[in-house]
Amino acid sequence: MIESKIKLTVRDVHDFPKPGIVFKDITPILKDPALCVQITKALAEQLIGVDIDVVAGIESRGFLFGPQLAELLNVPFVPIRKAGKLPYKTVKQSYDLEYGSATIEVHEDALSPGQRVLIHDDLLATGGTVVAASELVMQLGAKVAGYSFIIGLDFLNGRLRLAPYSNKIFSLASY
Ligand code: AMP
Repeated sequence: MIESKIKLTVRDVHDFPKPGIVFKDITPILKDPALCVQITKALAEQLIGVDIDVVAGIESRGFLFGPQLAELLNVPFVPIRKAGKLPYKTVKQSYDLEYGSATIEVHEDALSPGQRVLIHDDLLATGGTVVAASELVMQLGAKVAGYSFIIGLDFLNGRLRLAPYSNKIFSLASY
């Protein structure tokens, strides 16, 4: 079963990036090409029946499986990046972190009005990052079709924050 395989492979790193956080390190997955293929397929299978025009992946770990998922779904991939990385004209969205704030952005021509966008990242924690990504999608007149994660930290209740945008929230391994 894919969930137990992911859980056996992901490495818990305690107190990274700060004390008290258990960081789910997915880099061991990347060393197993067969598992990477299985994960991409499983992400796509969860999305059967969801209308998706574009996959938007969030920097940086949303770039590891996002492009393969988009390829498998036969739709374009759009990178959502941290401020200052994208070369062309962008729209921006700031959001609060535990300490301070962060800004993400997307090229202004990356999405067209009405497009249905699947937002992908490696992991859902509090949901702050994907809420900001959802606002970016809406700034460009596009719609959130759903969310796809490899890991969901369900005990942090990020799903509740995503519900106003879409109730199609999928993850392959939950904690
Ligand atoms: P959040 O905005 O709280 O949902 O945080 C999600 C983002 O932070 C994702 O891009 C994750 O990669 C990263 N992240 C947050 N918490 C963890 C964790 N415990 N392990 C690995 N990545 C995390």
